[in-house]
Amino acid sequence: MKTVTLIVPCYNEEASLPIFYDAVCEVAKEIPQYALTMLFVNDGSKDRTLSILRELAGKDERVRYLSFSRNFGKEAAMYAGFCNAKGDYVCVMDADMQDPPALLPQMLTILETGEYDSVATRRVSRDGEPPIRSFFARMFYKLINRISDADIVDGARDFRLMKREMVDAIVSMCEYNRFSKGIFGWIGFRTKWLPYKNVERVAGETKWSFWKLFKYSIDGIVNFSQAPLSIASFSGMLFTLIAFFMVLFVIVRKLIFGDPVAGWASTVCIILFIGGIQLLCMGIIGQYLAKTYMEVKKRPHYIIAESSDPDTTLVR
Ligand code: UDP
Ligand code: MG
Repeated sequence: MKTVTLIVPCYNEEASLPIFYDAVCEVAKEIPQYALTMLFVNDGSKDRTLSILRELAGKDERVRYLSFSRNFGKEAAMYAGFCNAKGDYVCVMDADMQDPPALLPQMLTILETGEYDSVATRRVSRDGEPPIRSFFARMFYKLINRISDADIVDGARDFRLMKREMVDAIVSMCEYNRFSKGIFGWIGFRTKWLPYKNVERVAGETKWSFWKLFKYSIDGIVNFSQAPLSIASFSGMLFTLIAFFMVLFVIVRKLIFGDPVAGWASTVCIILFIGGIQLLCMGIIGQYLAKTYMEVKKRPHYIIAESSDPDTTLVR
């Protein structure tokens, strides 16, 4: 019998968890040929999420959970899930029902054909999302696909079913600054894309503010592209070239016309402009340096304070 592990990151999901659990139990009845395990990762929730998980694990042996010592973010929660998932097939699924569990049987059927190593989902609509957020999301996907070699699909969710080989590849990517959409694309493998219409969250509210998403998108770019660094060096070269011709121009003008003191305004403009460009380039370098700093410290991605299994890797 093949085993399937569902990794479910949860942060303050007390309201959605019971609904999610019931939905998965319904789906499990449709696929009796698989042994399903739900691996919940409590990402330092401040509500009753952990006690609900304890309760569920107590009454249903298909429920396992890991609980972090604090909030480490969804990326860390997914990584902890991947490191501890034992199934032949592994699926990441949000607890808020935005990743419909009902799609699971169809995803398993596709994997069983043997033509694909993973089945990923993408939203074809962004109903219920603020228009400004959709606009920036689209811009981000256009930009990152142009400047990085990880193939990142617009509207891609983290909701994905994959084979063991792919999970092992993900676990081997142990970078500290994680951007899963990029990691999934970077490791390759044959992926089937399953489009579906956006579903709104059943209960609770989204944990992503606009600012958090903005920072996450910068993470994505810095992690999977060196284009900003190239832009910084190219603008440096361009301005050096311009400066060289300006100097020639000034010398020649002095030799021909003498040196009347003029052009104060333009000088100030040029100084300010170049100063701005310099600061911008230093900022770009700083972003990469900050990431490098975090990587070399080799801090753990997560710390588990409690778990339903004795053989859990507690720190990684
Ligand atoms: N999540 C998490 N840690 C966090 C933020 C979110 O584990 O710091 C989980 C959350 O419980 C949910 C999933 O990640 O299961 C997606 O979060 P959310 O629904 O807030 O994001 P959205 O669907 O709005 O992108
Ligand atoms: Mg959600």
